[in-house]
Amino acid sequence: MDNVTVRPVVHVSTCKICNSQAPLYGVADFNKSCEEARGRYLPLVGVPVYYHRCNHCGLVFTRAFDDWTKADYAQHIYNEDYVLIDPDYIDVRPASNAGFIRDFIKKGRDLKCLDYGGGNGTLARLLQEAGVDAHSWDPMDAAGSPSPSGPFDFISAFEVLEHTPEPVATVREALGMLSPRGVLVFSTLTIDHVPARGMDNWYIAPRNGHITLYTRRALLTLFEGEGYRVHHFNNNLHMALNHDPDWLS
Ligand SMILES: [Zn+2]
Repeated sequence: MDNVTVRPVVHVSTCKICNSQAPLYGVADFNKSCEEARGRYLPLVGVPVYYHRCNHCGLVFTRAFDDWTKADYAQHIYNEDYVLIDPDYIDVRPASNAGFIRDFIKKGRDLKCLDYGGGNGTLARLLQEAGVDAHSWDPMDAAGSPSPSGPFDFISAFEVLEHTPEPVATVREALGMLSPRGVLVFSTLTIDHVPARGMDNWYIAPRNGHITLYTRRALLTLFEGEGYRVHHFNNNLHMALNHDPDWLS
């Protein structure tokens, strides 16, 4: 964590989804990670990361990394130590997600699938091994691989939205790859009820790259703005679509 620089703090920011006023909400050391929920703590690094909270839709977000390049993220967050603070991303989560997707699309025929934000491509590979026409693409890929040729009937985006500093642009990009009756299934933990000072919440974790945290209202506003409706399976798993495909019944 050498030479990290973050953007200076403004007291009242503008919500990245609904443009309402978003006062300062709280501050966390850069090294605050999700593993603290399991009792594992990285040493504090002394870099404060301030978060704002929208007065209207409740979005909690930081602007500290708005100026970062993909290379900055690769150096400071998605580096060789990332596995220490997100140990499940290597294979536990892809295996579980692959099983879920196979079940979810089982009524579909020859669906073209994309795992958006697929990291090293493990989930798509597991789906391919099961006979699914699955592709993987990651907008944070520092190598900048070209965007995949869609459209796709089904797009998954697991653990993506909390990592983006630009929620509208990210969602617009993913939805732009969907076919007209396509379905986007995505995970991100919604936090609908937060106390006045809620920075102890385990999911607000700059070291994990968790820099944008949603309420259900924030997700609704975000997807309505793109012409999509949102269904919540639970607090972590959601679906966006505008016309129900035949296979989803
Ligand atoms: Zn808002």
